Amino acid sequence: MTNPTRPTAVITGASSGIGAVYADRLAARGHDLILIARRADRLDALATRLQASHGIKARPMVADLSTETGIAAVEALLQSDTAISVLVNNAGLCHVGPIASMTAAEHSEMLMVNLVAPSRLAHAVLPAFLARNTGTIINIGSANSVRPFPGTAVYSGTKAYILSLSFALQDEVEGTGIRVQAVLPSATATEMWDTPEFKKLEVPFEMLMSTEAMVDAAISGLDQGELVTMPSVADIDDWNRFDAAGRDLFAAAANAQPAPRYRAA
Ligand code: NAP
Repeated sequence: MTNPTRPTAVITGASSGIGAVYADRLAARGHDLILIARRADRLDALATRLQASHGIKARPMVADLSTETGIAAVEALLQSDTAISVLVNNAGLCHVGPIASMTAAEHSEMLMVNLVAPSRLAHAVLPAFLARNTGTIINIGSANSVRPFPGTAVYSGTKAYILSLSFALQDEVEGTGIRVQAVLPSATATEMWDTPEFKKLEVPFEMLMSTEAMVDAAISGLDQGELVTMPSVADIDDWNRFDAAGRDLFAAAANAQPAPRYRAA
């Protein structure tokens, strides 16, 4: 059981990489934790370590978020545990390669874990957050949320969804005590980069941000009230221009007439 006097953070994909560092940082901030992934041994070890080092309660929960059963189990948790005040939608994977050579199973796995699960989990937790007028949802997107590159069609598509979902949720909870932050990391030195698929990309090690630096920057962005945090972007105006261009283009599209260039002469 978590402690009702302490806030609880639910972190998906907590068995390694970015999720495991979020677990450490949120434990240091006094959160109890519910740690979700498939690898029970990793979750158990992390929970034991964080309980000992931070004096919090940490509960592992094994769930496969590529399955309807796994998503439904986490939804039920989010709907029933009133101590939950933070959801970190972090679990994700990337099969690299041209979409034409990808298997249907790989395609579906990415859609389920990277897109369906975070969307459904945000949906599941929001009513309780709205009822209490408090809560934080952190959605881990990617720099690929703003631009894909070849070999990442499906992955980048799922991450574009994360940004779009976050934008809309932010508008929907504006004026409430609920926070929604989208974090868009660039290449970060996690186990993702140890897979044969990623090794083929031959990205030099020095181009990878450390996982700790990435998560600490993302939490700093949250503390500063940012809605979208791109930890590796030095000039915030780069983001502001992108955001403004999207808003301007959307406004320009609100037009009942086709543009003159498409009208018959
Ligand atoms: P990672 O170390 O491989 O961690 C991925 C996590 O997702 C693991 O905990 C894994 O746990 C979990 N996961 C994968 N499939 C799952 C499933 N079917 N059900 C439940 N959990 C599942 O990689 P990471 O870099 O930390 O990735 C975390 C997030 O950061 C992802 O959303 C990723 O897209 C994003 N991101 C990473 C980078 C980067 O360069 N590393 C850049 C931008 C965005 P189990 O295997 O134990 O289930």
